[in-house]
Amino acid sequence: MTTNHATLPAVGEPLLTLRGVSKAYGTKQAVAGVDLAIPRGSIYGFLGPNGAGKTTTIRSIMNIILPDSGEILLAGEPLGATARDRIGYLPEERGLYRKMKCVEQLAYLAELKGVPRREAMERADVWLERLGLTENRDKKVDTLSKGMQQKIQFAATFISGPDLVILDEVFSGLDPLNIELLREMILEEKEKGTTILFSTHMLAEAEKICDAICLIEGGEVILDGTLQQVRERFPVHTVRAAWRDETEPPTDLPGVTRREKSEGVWELALAEGVVPDSLLELLAAAGPLTLFSANRPSLGEIFLAAVARHRGEVAA
Ligand code: ATP
Repeated sequence: MTTNHATLPAVGEPLLTLRGVSKAYGTKQAVAGVDLAIPRGSIYGFLGPNGAGKTTTIRSIMNIILPDSGEILLAGEPLGATARDRIGYLPEERGLYRKMKCVEQLAYLAELKGVPRREAMERADVWLERLGLTENRDKKVDTLSKGMQQKIQFAATFISGPDLVILDEVFSGLDPLNIELLREMILEEKEKGTTILFSTHMLAEAEKICDAICLIEGGEVILDGTLQQVRERFPVHTVRAAWRDETEPPTDLPGVTRREKSEGVWELALAEGVVPDSLLELLAAAGPLTLFSANRPSLGEIFLAAVARHRGEVAA
């Protein structure tokens, strides 16, 4: 459904570029010199702790607020008035016309972005069908459950066929089945060539869906790259171990930052750079070891390690 725009870069080349974007609210520097390059056709995770500057950055991209400095380019061009027609935005605070029928709502939002009426109605029906909402077609939005309204908002974000879609906490308030449904649709839209900026605190979801991520903290980008690249830069591992008897891991193991037991198996988190194999001998010496496995770091563990490292550097 993506609209054809003559100026689109090749897949993999930057579609959205931010250079040195900064924004202060009074004395609070919300965003401080953010550089980003989001490749066309990718799902790009935009992650960070509360107050990191994600919403401020997204609002700058959407021209809702004006940055103090820096530039934002879509397909190499500064974002002008028409550029916003090429971006679909699902904000964290939802905004639908509550008294409008679902089908009318979707068609209207598509028309606002230049889709002719007839085509807009057709697309609205397709989206309602894809989302399993056809029987709610002629119901007013405010008679739908919160999750259903969220799905309508999701359809509204994509219906005009934007080149770039910004999804801010798209899964919030959804049950696991609907999360799965929307995840599949995001992947389908990516396959059709849509570029997606995926902002979330749900790191396990980001890990499943993103090609690359950017981690922002204190208004600065502290980590970015493909998932593979960020894993290489943050070699934080966990080790799982179990013993035939009630042996517990020694409390003075070098480089272990956290130890937890779950269903008879101990999980040990290792400090950055600590190699799992270095523990094998010590754990085997503690008792009759029946399980030893080293796990690659989750995005959540990388997130915590990167933020801790950055805060340590700032404090020093
Ligand atoms: P969250 O994950 O909690 O939504 P965020 O990463 O989206 O956070 P922002 O909302 O961009 O973060 O906020 C960045 C910083 O700017 C925070 O310290 C916040 O308090 C501050 N801030 C945001 N909006 C305003 C505003 N309108 N006036 C003053 N300060 C603001």
